[in-house]
Amino acid sequence: MHNLASLIRAVPDFPTPGIVFRDITPLLADAAEFARCIALLAEPWREARVQAVCAIESRGFIFGAALATTLGAGFVPLRKPGKLPPPVVAVDYELEYARDRLEARNDALRKGERVLVADDVLATGGTLCAARTLVERLGATVVGASVLIELAALPGRARWGNASPLHALLSY
Ligand code: 5GP
Repeated sequence: MHNLASLIRAVPDFPTPGIVFRDITPLLADAAEFARCIALLAEPWREARVQAVCAIESRGFIFGAALATTLGAGFVPLRKPGKLPPPVVAVDYELEYARDRLEARNDALRKGERVLVADDVLATGGTLCAARTLVERLGATVVGASVLIELAALPGRARWGNASPLHALLSY
């Protein structure tokens, strides 16, 4: 059996020079390892009474949807601008050289609903923290965050802070 890390491909200079992109598609294509990956991602949250998994478009959807069914929770997509019909709630956030926005349906979560935020990769943390802000704006409670990969040289974990746990399966 492969191990998970050997199924993550490092692609130098993509999408821009100097960036090493972590390509998760070989892992997704391996039936046994993808299933094992979802079971391992779910493990820390089995007793957390997660009611909804909120995942970030687009690669976050792949892990978030599988995590939701594994944990017996609903799935709520946090989408890029203009994809959801109104009314939506939005959060703007800074990327390294740009701005972006996440949107959710304004009634996507109930007040106090227990939410796990999910994405594929944690880099600077801007995206994951924007997702948390959006979930809180919708009145729900963030019980933690789950990512497949944490890029440990970047300040994502520090930016997430200690208010709720952040679990990463792999760290580079
Ligand atoms: P951050 O906001 O933490 O800087 O960036 C995280 C977002 O960028 C995630 O939604 C993730 O999908 C994407 N991302 C950043 N770097 C990589 C990478 O090396 N591989 C993949 N698959 N996604 C990345």
